[in-house]
Amino acid sequence: MWQEYVFPQSVPQALEVLRAYAGTARIIAGGTDLAIQLKEDDGDVKCLLDITRLQELREITIEGGIISIGAAVTYREALASPLLQEKAPMLLEACREVGSPQIRNVGTIVGNIVNAQPAADAAIALLALDAEVEIASPVGLRREPLGSLFLDVGLCRVDPTDELVTKVLLRALGEDQGTAFERLAKRRALALPMLNVAAVVTVKGGLFQDARLAMGPVAPVPFRARKAEAFLASKPVNSESIAQAARLASEEAEPRSSLLRGSREYRKEMVTVFARRALERASAKWL
Ligand SMILES: Cc1cc2nc3c(=O)[nH]c(=O)nc-3n(C[C@H](O)[C@H](O)[C@H](O)COP(=O)(O)OP(=O)(O)OC[C@H]3O[C@@H](n4cnc5c(N)ncnc54)[C@H](O)[C@@H]3O)c2cc1C
Repeated sequence: MWQEYVFPQSVPQALEVLRAYAGTARIIAGGTDLAIQLKEDDGDVKCLLDITRLQELREITIEGGIISIGAAVTYREALASPLLQEKAPMLLEACREVGSPQIRNVGTIVGNIVNAQPAADAAIALLALDAEVEIASPVGLRREPLGSLFLDVGLCRVDPTDELVTKVLLRALGEDQGTAFERLAKRRALALPMLNVAAVVTVKGGLFQDARLAMGPVAPVPFRARKAEAFLASKPVNSESIAQAARLASEEAEPRSSLLRGSREYRKEMVTVFARRALERASAKWL
């Protein structure tokens, strides 16, 4: 059972505490994943390092068209941000779905990333938005593409006993872009997703110039439907192109049969339906 609960005064001090505990200290933000994990198995955790009072990690800013969301920003704060409402509405569609008001009051977007579940709502939205994360470690600051962080179910390349994600970065929505987040769940609230699909399209002259389609859980990690994305490049924005892309996404997806989420066949069919819905809604301006 952990003995120490520390509020670091700065990121360098947080790294110093992690270094001093040599792997037995752990970053905690809202605790909505970690508290449950520690209850089941607290491993060798001796100290919890709470980052929620670090003001530098609580900011949402934009510079040169790049939005930065601090690692201690909660879902509730993200949902209340006029900047995100205007420039990243699809991320907020995903944030609105997470858990319950109590969870959204304390849970963080970055905690959702590092916890690395294949159906993590905010992580899937950010994957389609081609986000990056900034990581502070004993060897300095680095930026990593979000997609490169996910190794397996619950396994992230960021080691929260040794390094700290400071922020997540994403490009603000452009005039020539459309986005949508579609979610299938057993209930309208406090239900983990059976399927999430996030779409981002860029359209020029009635043609898809670029399309990104992220979804989960259809693989051990949040998943990009690369074949469907490649198919849409330079295709006309119409229901035929979208229907074909949705079929391709379903072919690529590898969901397993699950008591909670339905049979493999049902889930593959739902990928076709929800990928089509997300692409249609993201392309609505041009359809
Ligand atoms: C009842 C309930 C319902 C939920 N519903 C949903 C849902 O619908 N959709 C969904 O996606 N999730 C859901 N979750 C999971 C959870 O709420 C989210 O994943 C949330 O975003 C986790 O954020 P947190 O700040 O609480 O993370 P924490 O629990 O504090 O941390 C999670 C992990 O990330 C690490 N970590 C946190 N911040 C950093 C950082 N800055 N740098 C390095 N490591 C860090 C921690 O060490 C830990 O390993 C639910 C959880 C509960 C309990």
